[in-house]
Parts: sequence; C-alpha cells; structure tokens
Amino acid sequence: MQSLTKHETILWSTLFEHAWDGMVVLRQNGSVYRANRRYADMLGYTPEEMKALHVWDWDTQFSQKELLEMLQNVDSSGAHFETQQRRKDGTTIDVELNNNGAYYRGEKLVFCIVRDITAHKETEEQLRQNEELLQGIASQVPGALHQYRMAPDGSRSFPYFSEGIAELGGLTQEELSGTSAEPVMSHILPEDAVDVEARLQETAKTLSHFHAEFRICHGDGSIRWIESHSMPQKEADGSIVWTGILLDVTQRKKAEERVLEMAITDGLTGITNRQEFNRLLEHEIERAARYDTPLSMIMYDLDYFKKINDRFGHNAGDDVLITVAKLVNDNIRSIDSQGRWGGEEFMVLLPQTGLDAARGVAEKLRRVIADHRFEQLDTITASFGVVELAIREDSRSLAQRVDEALYRAKALGRNRVEVYISPVPDSNGSGPSPA
Ligand code: GH3
Ligand code: MG
Ligand code: MG
Repeated sequence: MQSLTKHETILWSTLFEHAWDGMVVLRQNGSVYRANRRYADMLGYTPEEMKALHVWDWDTQFSQKELLEMLQNVDSSGAHFETQQRRKDGTTIDVELNNNGAYYRGEKLVFCIVRDITAHKETEEQLRQNEELLQGIASQVPGALHQYRMAPDGSRSFPYFSEGIAELGGLTQEELSGTSAEPVMSHILPEDAVDVEARLQETAKTLSHFHAEFRICHGDGSIRWIESHSMPQKEADGSIVWTGILLDVTQRKKAEERVLEMAITDGLTGITNRQEFNRLLEHEIERAARYDTPLSMIMYDLDYFKKINDRFGHNAGDDVLITVAKLVNDNIRSIDSQGRWGGEEFMVLLPQTGLDAARGVAEKLRRVIADHRFEQLDTITASFGVVELAIREDSRSLAQRVDEALYRAKALGRNRVEVYISPVPDSNGSGPSPA
C-alpha cells in the first residue's frame, strides 16, 4: 500500500472522526485498533476507554470463539449483518454492520461501519404491534370489515375482508380468494342487487357515505339481511375504494317485519285490521278513479251473534269469527281483500268488479257461511250489504252506504244480500238511496 501524504492523513482522519456512522477497526485478536467518536458515543464509552476493549465486551449475540472466527474469515469482499451490542451502562442497541478485512502495515485488520438501527427496529416493532392490534379488533368486531374497489375500467374486487366474512356470508375460501368481486356479490338477491349497484354508482360520484340493506343467499341456503356502511375514497389511479362494515341484521329485520305485520293485522282472525283496510280502500279508490275501473265493497255481519256468545261462551264465539274469516278468505280472489271492521262485522274490497258481480260474490259468501257446519252450534248465518263506488265518491260515503245496505238486509230478515243501487250522491243533494 502506498503511504499517505500528511495532507491525506488529515483528510481521512477528519472523515473518520466526523462520520455519522460508528467506525471501528479491529485486530485479529478482537482488540480495538481504533474507534471513532461516533462509535464510542453509541456505546457510551470515551474513545480512550474503547482502546482497552475487545469486541466480545460489547457484542451480545456471538461468543468470543465465534467472533474470533469471524474476524479471521472476513475478507475484502466484506460481510453485512445485523446484531445487538451492549453499551457501557448495560443497555443494548440494535446495529447493522458492514465489515471488511484488509492488510495494513503487514497486519490484517477488520474495518467495521456500525449503524444504530434501534429506532428503526422500534418503529418496525410498533408497526407490527399496530397491525396485530388492528387484526385483533377486526376479528372481534361483529360482522365483517371490508374494502371494495371499483377500478377505472369498471372491474370490481375486494382487496380486504376481515375474518368475520366467512361466517357472515357462508362463503367458501375459493369465492373469497378470487381477484374478482363477482363470486361474492352474486350472493346478493338480484332484486336487491339493483339498488346496491345504484347506491355504489351514486356514492362513487359524490364520495358520500354508502348505506344499504339487502338480502343475500347465505352459503347454507338461508336468506339473510345484511346492513352495509362504508366510506368511498378516490385513489391516485382513479379507482374508488369503499372501506366499511357488513352486519347481519336478519334478527332485527325479522322483528321489524313482525312489528309491521302486527300493526296491520287483526290479532284474532289474522286478516287485515280496520286501519290497514282503510288504507287499502283509499288506495283502491284512487286506482279505480285513475284507471276508470269499477270498485265494489261488501260488508257482512253475523246474525244473532250475541246469542252464540251467550250460549257457548266468548271463546267459542272467537272460534266462529276465525272460521268465518277464513271461509271468506278462501272464497275471494287474490286481488280482493278482507278486513275486520268491528266485532263481528267484516268488509270485502273487490277491485275491478261492478255491482252485479259483487252481488254474486256476496251471495256465494252468504251460502258458504250458511252451509258450513260449525262445532257445537251447527250453523250460523250472516247478512250482507253490497255497494259499488260512484264517481268522485270518497271512502266515508262508500262505507256509510254499504252499512245502510247491510242494515236493510238485517231489517228484511237477515241471511240475505242487499245492494245499494242508486250510486251517485249528486250535487243537487238528492243522494243515493237503498234500493
Ligand atoms: P244481529 O243479527 O242484529 O247482528 O245480532 P247480533 O247479536 O249479531 O248483534 P250485534 O251485531 O249488534 O252484536 C255483536 C256481538 O258480537 C256483540 C258482542 O258480544 C259480539 N262480539 C263482538 N266482537 C267479538 C269478539 O271479538 N269475540 C266474540 N266472541 N264476540 C264478539
Ligand atoms: Mg251481528
Ligand atoms: Mg255487529
């Protein structure tokens, strides 16, 4: 090796002493030939103290024997590895080492550049812990966390699902691991998928909160209700990525359906209650007016029902009401609807039906009831009023007229059908009258 000029010696010494990395030159016997200030600082010694040390005084990973072997084996092609070193105060630091062996004045020396990577290691550990924490949370939250991506070319994928998805959708590993979102999305019932797609398109434009409730066909064949909440974000490549949660809300939906059902159903007979019947009536009146189709209504009331309660008891009376409501339901069309108007008074709404046909239906229902053999009481009869909606007539007027027709059927001897004929309550005040 060519000897250095004085000027060069100063230059290299300055570089060595002021380097940001630790530098140490070791002899073959493990003792320190020279260490720079930065390395002494890293280990918490003074440069003077360093000179009295051997490499095994600070390395915590390798034995003295191993270190001596390493010093012997390292050559000019170098060695690069990570290890841990002990500081004077006993604390440890993680370091990255670059070692090179070279001869200097006939002696083989090992030149080590040491970088303190403790902070880097800590950050890595922090990240690992954060990831573990997030994964723990994701596996504990009810339902499934997910990310859904819509690429600029329109293709869809699920970049992320938390564990819960398998149970939520009863999905197979194959369906979940594919690159396309289609196998998973195809579990949504077609009639609901249309709404979901519309919401996706809308929120992709507005980047506003996505919320949808839809049904899926679970892997076990059952139908489940899913509630989905997510927030879309636009990525640099123009993709939209929704991040959010999917929840199984089947139980809640069923409860809601039961509450809704109870609100519109008569508790005893299971047919439409008066409130819901009134709603249907308004709806059908509107339809009849718009499409100019006839609409008729039947009202019936059981004859001498008080006597039945008196003789056989209220429970037997209840059973009769249930049976009569069912007999009538079984003998009307699916577009007709029956409602319980009061105690033992019922209404039947007949869309697209004129007065004559409605009278025929009432006559049939009268016979069905009269012909039925009930337990204990044997037979029972009912009286019927029939009416057809007049032009511009409202529901109140229609209900009043059908009640009047029923009253006539009672007055004329019961177990009969009476029709309210003159239909138009005209503007001269000469309203319709029972026939
Ligand atoms: P009519 O031939 O004039 O109709 O005689 P009716 O005895 O049937 O007289 P009305 O229609 O006025 O009486 C209805 C009776 O129906 C009174 C009540 O005791 C009975 N009722 C009303 N609601 C119920 C019910 O939910 N269950 C039972 N078991 N009876 C009821
Ligand atoms: Mg009665
Ligand atoms: Mg009555």
